[in-house]
Amino acid sequence: MVTQSLTDPLITLQGVTKSYRQPNGQEVIILEPIHLMLRPGEIVALLGPSGSGKSTLMRMIAGLIPPTSGQVLYHDRPLVGLNPGVAIVFQSFALYPWLTVLENVELGLKAKGEPAAPRRQKALKMIDVIGLDGFENAYPKELSGGMRQRVGFARALAVEPELLCMDEPFSALDVLTAENLRFELLDLWLERRIPTRSILIVTHGIEEAVILADRIVVLGRNPGRIRADLPVTLPHYRDRKSPAFQALVDQVYKILTHPDLQEIEPPAPVSTPHEPSPEPTKYQSLPSVRIGSIAGFLELLEDRQGDLYRLAQEFLMEVDDMLPIVEAAQFLDLVAVREGDISLSSVGQQFISSGIDERKHIVRTQLLAHIRLVQQIYRLLQAKRDQRLPEELILDILEPHFTAKEAQRQFNTAIDWGRYAELYSYDEPSGEIFLEAATTPELVVTNP
Ligand code: ADP
Ligand code: MG
Repeated sequence: MVTQSLTDPLITLQGVTKSYRQPNGQEVIILEPIHLMLRPGEIVALLGPSGSGKSTLMRMIAGLIPPTSGQVLYHDRPLVGLNPGVAIVFQSFALYPWLTVLENVELGLKAKGEPAAPRRQKALKMIDVIGLDGFENAYPKELSGGMRQRVGFARALAVEPELLCMDEPFSALDVLTAENLRFELLDLWLERRIPTRSILIVTHGIEEAVILADRIVVLGRNPGRIRADLPVTLPHYRDRKSPAFQALVDQVYKILTHPDLQEIEPPAPVSTPHEPSPEPTKYQSLPSVRIGSIAGFLELLEDRQGDLYRLAQEFLMEVDDMLPIVEAAQFLDLVAVREGDISLSSVGQQFISSGIDERKHIVRTQLLAHIRLVQQIYRLLQAKRDQRLPEELILDILEPHFTAKEAQRQFNTAIDWGRYAELYSYDEPSGEIFLEAATTPELVVTNP
């Protein structure tokens, strides 16, 4: 064991990046150089939209995957292989169905080579701490989701990790169960009933981050990068309804809904040279949202104007569900978002007061004016004599800029949007995109 002062960082990320090589040989950057320190005594929330690289970053800290470049330091020493100080709680619980609760909890200790007797004793103690008393011999399938995740917590905590990592640990649970477990974990942490020195929680829930964390590190996507590193100084237990709480939620919301905002309080780089940032992405990253839901959302906005966060509450929508819709509407210039407030743009106003044909026309104009991928598909179609394109062509164009999965999503979105606007059609069985002569709009595509 290395002796440490209280403020020495547990984990230091020095210019850590991750990229993956596509089957076509292209390198896709998942995370730009990340500089980050995790210190004892703090709960850090890693918050960001899906695909921003939160899980990837956590896995690198845990030593489950190596960085492409840069270094992960554990107690100031380069990490090689699995991080001995880390245990992970997964969203999916990741329990072995053929093992009892006790056996599942013992697993981590067993992997560390703990002899049978102390292993059992430590596991039983953690089972008690975590509220699983009496369920030692139950099998996972006999337990509710909340109880299963307790097993996940007990298994991670039994090894007494210095850093407890949790990847969206509450998101598979119902709202009430999640809230109970959240506060129980907070109790254990605040009352120091668990030996963990620091907690890293990956989440896409703003409120969850503000409830639990001492620091919120906001990630952006394409490529993943740190956009803000915000201290949370509100005392526990935090009141969701208090003005200070709401102000912080609004602030984070603002950062998340402004993908183009400059970094807020960028974290001080750790002294290490890092490679220059890659070329900016040529394509916008289109949120995976159907035009129908954008239309529905705009109709909800009619006669309403205001705070995004409170709108989400009013509509009982998770912030993370609403963000992509807002982002899509912003891309199409149908809404204006300022300082966390959203309102219909003049085009958006016109959209909701129009009938279906006029709506299609509006979307057509907006797509050709603002969405690069749609412009490109449309131009390529016009250039082809038979006015047909194989989807592979578009996917190949996209794949240098996105992962294969994300390229497919971008393609699907561009197809959905273009189809709605009757710019082009798509034949699923043959995978061909084609212009429909009868509906070809007389629109000139201007250069973006
Ligand atoms: P988050 O947890 O924030 O949703 P992830 O870290 O899971 O994000 O993924 C970030 C990006 O990296 C995604 O676009 C995902 O598709 C991509 N990705 C993750 N793992 C791999 C992999 N093994 N190969 C290729 N791409 C990957
Ligand atoms: Mg994830």
